[in-house]
Amino acid sequence: MIDLRSDTVTRPTEGMRAAMARADVGDDVYGEDPTVRALEERVAGLLGHEAALFTPTGSMANVLAVGLLVAPGQEVLCEARAHIARAELGAHGAVSGVTMRTWSSPRGQVDVAVLADLFAPDLGPFFVRTAAISVENTHNFAGGAVLPLADLKALRAFADEHSVAVHLDGARLWNAHVATGVSLEEYGAVADVAAVCLSKGLGAPVGSLVVGPAALIAEARVRRKRLGGGMRQVGVLAAGGLYALDHHVDRLADDHAHARLLAEACGVDPAGVDTNIVAFDVADAPAYVAAAREAGVLVGAVGARTVRLVTHLDVSRADTAQAVAALARL
Ligand SMILES: *Cc1c(COP(=O)(O)O)cnc(C)c1O
Repeated sequence: MIDLRSDTVTRPTEGMRAAMARADVGDDVYGEDPTVRALEERVAGLLGHEAALFTPTGSMANVLAVGLLVAPGQEVLCEARAHIARAELGAHGAVSGVTMRTWSSPRGQVDVAVLADLFAPDLGPFFVRTAAISVENTHNFAGGAVLPLADLKALRAFADEHSVAVHLDGARLWNAHVATGVSLEEYGAVADVAAVCLSKGLGAPVGSLVVGPAALIAEARVRRKRLGGGMRQVGVLAAGGLYALDHHVDRLADDHAHARLLAEACGVDPAGVDTNIVAFDVADAPAYVAAAREAGVLVGAVGARTVRLVTHLDVSRADTAQAVAALARL
């Protein structure tokens, strides 16, 4: 079976396991795990921010990040298919009391002209106040689309002008960076608080980080513990993340090339495939998933008619060729 359901299905490599086995550890709730601290400092530095906090999942990183920027009873604006809106089981409402309004755009992009209509300033006891705008780069359910840097810079200017915060869901920011050559720091500069994942294309088994100003990250540390996310000798996991940053970032270009090959096989224009995700519509997504399984390829349904293929570290060029042959027949 070739597993194209998600880039979360990777297993740690021998080299990563060795790095995890020899990790220096301590009790991270006491702030004494040197490997976790090294990872947090490194990722904060990469994004050009003051501090970072290791979390078990990207969902927890997003809940903490949005919750830092948006008080209960306020709102965050995001694209309609954003992971925070669709795939976090309502956590922002259920846990943080945050409401959402959404815009729709074909590739998940953000347009300040649209924001100007949606944005609600603080009008006292009338409308829900917009406290943050969230963008997702790359955009998962828009097929791994990279958000254009010019749009993000315009968003930053809009946010500064209106004193509203920007949240970046950068679960796959590494893919955007490798696809465009735009530095992580330049992407980081768009956001007040960002979340990034180690457990997607980077191939670590566990881990995400919230990145932002030191004072907000200190508050995030308190809230993480409150949510039950204070972890102990977790340098074993952080070591997997550090290894991934050393060895698995540049190779994302291979995943992107493999995704374009799969797109061609499925009748999707490869020019529209920015990174490692191919999404396309079929008559009946569950039926397509079943037929692909019969042909030896696991793919995902992300809607009644939308199929998603994701390339990753555990899909080689040869695996890609085999999947291309099988899916072309479908
Ligand atoms: C995977 C993902 C997350 C976080 O997911 P977890 O499974 O909770 O780690 C957040 N945002 C996006 C865009 C994702 O694809």
